[in-house]
Amino acid sequence: MRRPTASFNRGMQTVTLIPGDGIGPEISTAVMKIFEAAKAPIRWEERNVTAIKGPGGRWMIPPDAKESMDKSKIGLKGPLKTPIAAGHPSMNLLLRKTFDLYANVRPCISIEGYKTPYTDVDLVTIRENTEGEYSGIEHVIVDGVVQSIKLITENASRRIAEYAFEYARNNQRTSVTAVHKANIMRMSDGLFLRKCREVAENYKDIKFTEMYLDTVCLNMVQDPTQFDVLVMPNLYGDILSDLCAGLIGGLGVTPSGNIGANGVAIFESVHGTAPDIAGMDLANPTALLLSAVMMLRHMGLHDYGNKIQTACFDTIRDKKVLTKDLGGNSKCSEFTADICRRI
Ligand code: NAD
Repeated sequence: MRRPTASFNRGMQTVTLIPGDGIGPEISTAVMKIFEAAKAPIRWEERNVTAIKGPGGRWMIPPDAKESMDKSKIGLKGPLKTPIAAGHPSMNLLLRKTFDLYANVRPCISIEGYKTPYTDVDLVTIRENTEGEYSGIEHVIVDGVVQSIKLITENASRRIAEYAFEYARNNQRTSVTAVHKANIMRMSDGLFLRKCREVAENYKDIKFTEMYLDTVCLNMVQDPTQFDVLVMPNLYGDILSDLCAGLIGGLGVTPSGNIGANGVAIFESVHGTAPDIAGMDLANPTALLLSAVMMLRHMGLHDYGNKIQTACFDTIRDKKVLTKDLGGNSKCSEFTADICRRI
């Protein structure tokens, strides 16, 4: 597929593009082509993110990628491979730490015409991204006994709750549900829940409810339409957001955004590098494309986002040109061309 070239027109906003590994470059090219067809005012600054060792032997992201993100503040990222049990740590985690990306946002919206268990899912999970069970504090107490610390802080809990309510208000959502297990984890989840309740006091226009994680899971698979925005600590969010992705057709069609302090945000597809189909023009670019649509809305470019999303959903509803994972026989480049044609 021909790669679109960067444009330097006035009025353009720069976005750092991290194509990633495996199918990452193919789906990134697809997104760039669709943005070009939509005349979206975005200038891509492409950067590779591979793990390098910095001073003191600490793993870091390459300085040119950090510099680009520091300047542009907005990134679009394809999947990055993580070696198992050895070598460098997850680059996704490193990016989150480097830019303090504290909120993981995943809208789950049913795609008309794409057969899934439900047809009317429309909810958003907002996951605290920096602490909880994933704070990385683990140690051996005695041989055969290990301890993992669940870290919950007042600041991080307040920050994620405020983000969730602001998100609800700015995106015409009407309710926020805090997901917790404060009946068992009285201190940690208790603190998280208290902060959510306090923040809710400042958002009287948004309905606030609280629900145990297990009850949310039960209700979610029985009737997902009862949920709107859900906010939760890290581990619960990791699991529940994948469950919600399953309700709309899986990770291949689910977008996500990681929002940080100081205006930095990185939008990414949540699937992996798909090494089994990499370089074969078989990948489905929908998840990265819808993440790029989220990015456009985050940047205030709603018209471009709506235009691209409509064209993508029309292609899927039409069913004539679909990638294999969506039930079709078409190549990534053909699927991309069909979306471009509809813009
Ligand atoms: P995977 O998501 O790469 O693949 C699972 C299955 O889904 C494969 O059959 C693959 O072909 C298919 N698939 C995934 N995305 C697809 C797409 N867009 N279009 C069509 N088919 C698609 O998961 P994995 O095999 O467990 O992981 C492979 C690598 O990806 C690992 O190195 C892992 O660490 C990495 N990974 C990265 C991220 C990320 O960067 N956010 C997320 C998950 C996994």
